[in-house]
Amino acid sequence: MDIRNELERKRRVLTAAIQSGMDRTRGGAADRNEIAKELTKDPYGSASLIHDDEIVADMMDRRIRELQQVNRALEELDRGRYGICQECEEPISKARLKAMPFATRCVACQSAQEGLRRAA
Ligand SMILES: [Zn+2]
Repeated sequence: MDIRNELERKRRVLTAAIQSGMDRTRGGAADRNEIAKELTKDPYGSASLIHDDEIVADMMDRRIRELQQVNRALEELDRGRYGICQECEEPISKARLKAMPFATRCVACQSAQEGLRRAA
């Protein structure tokens, strides 16, 4: 698997998803009419609509964060730093990168970091 192709594909998918999510949440008069129709149709419409908005906002947050990670990984690839642990400068294992393409620390440094965080 070519990691750069994989990342660029992911970036395109995320960018498109964020774009369409923004279009949806931006809303407009037409959307409000649709919402009003939904509300009269469903007695619990009000609650579920609010819930949907929260889910969409949540999803958008996650996508934006993921896009930032993808961009960072692509930057690291450009600088020849991708897959290098930011703490100890050792290469991160292929298996770990396969499971976590945006890992920035090797297993040892990651667990040390998590240990610190727990202790703090
Ligand atoms: Zn390390």
